Amino acid sequence: MESIIKHLVEITGHRDHDLLNISVISALRELTKAKQARVLDILAVGQNLFVKSKISFANDKLVVADEFLSMTSNGEPIGNYPDLQNGLEQHLSVIETPSVAGNRTIWLPIWMNEKISTCLEIVNPASYTKNTREVMNGILIVYRNFQNLLDYSERDSLTGLLNRKTFDDNFSKILRAGSPQNPSLGIDVVGTERRHLLEPESAHWLAVLDIDHFKRVNDQFGHLYGDEVLILIANLLRSSFRPTDKLFRFGGEEFVILLRSTSIDDAQDIFDRFRENVARYNFPQVGNVTVSIGFARINLFEAAVGIIGRADQALYFAKTNGRNKTCFYEDLVKSGDLKVEQSHDDVEFF
Ligand code: GH3
Ligand code: MG
Ligand code: MG
Repeated sequence: MESIIKHLVEITGHRDHDLLNISVISALRELTKAKQARVLDILAVGQNLFVKSKISFANDKLVVADEFLSMTSNGEPIGNYPDLQNGLEQHLSVIETPSVAGNRTIWLPIWMNEKISTCLEIVNPASYTKNTREVMNGILIVYRNFQNLLDYSERDSLTGLLNRKTFDDNFSKILRAGSPQNPSLGIDVVGTERRHLLEPESAHWLAVLDIDHFKRVNDQFGHLYGDEVLILIANLLRSSFRPTDKLFRFGGEEFVILLRSTSIDDAQDIFDRFRENVARYNFPQVGNVTVSIGFARINLFEAAVGIIGRADQALYFAKTNGRNKTCFYEDLVKSGDLKVEQSHDDVEFF
């Protein structure tokens, strides 16, 4: 009983998904005396599901996959785990494999409104009585409620996109991800090699997107139609970008996109295709709406404010040069349309 309370105190004491995941998987592993336990991300890419290990415990060693470093891959196709796939198709809350060669796996999918994004995996539990199962169920309910609360606090209530505060928290995580030790957790992180991030052809990009003449939409059709446009643009963003990219509503009619691991040509195409899709979309009642986009390369050694500043300058250029445009900061500097501001204040080295 004491240990259950200890686990609950631990689980509910975190306001960070990684720490929450670590404490829940530690609690389950201890309860079941399992050899191995993992927290899996279940990613939906189009119609296909992928499985990606987020946190794993094996031989008493805890490994946290670094989100930013491992984001180049979607993970393994769900087909590699036929029993799990089968169980998810049936919306089961406990999926057990029959013991094969003495190995037994139990999956606990965390269902949120019929959707799945996280699944816990326990391999070879030693003690797994009816009582253990009841305690596990209790822990899972607390975990799910807490995940819900965390999600709620990280998201903007109108569009469901991540909010500004989450951007601030996430961005410092991204910068920290460059180092082999994750100081917030004090444990090893694994992922693609850092070298990969520094290759010039593959980088990460930050775009600031602002709706053109949005005030007119509100003035002409009313605030409710304005809100509807914001929701529809958020939906277009969600369906256009990969789950590993991050989408934020920064405030008002401004959005920020973190685009991961692409070449400059692809980044330009992806952002510009999105701009075109918005311009083509027929918004109910309102008709056509356009957006302007400014983007810049993410330099991992720079504070977020500097990167946003460059994307903002490119956005400002798009706004003052006709709107409904995508502008890349470095191109504007090369062409002489923008001057580099020589400021030492906004560059921080870690
Ligand atoms: P520009 O092309 O230069 O960006 O012009 P704009 O009219 O989009 O820009 P401006 O900054 O002048 O106006 C932004 C408007 O966005 C003003 C405000 O009424 C509206 N707005 C901000 N947040 C919301 C919201 O949550 N809902 C609605 N309906 N409107 C919002
Ligand atoms: Mg605007
Ligand atoms: Mg604006």
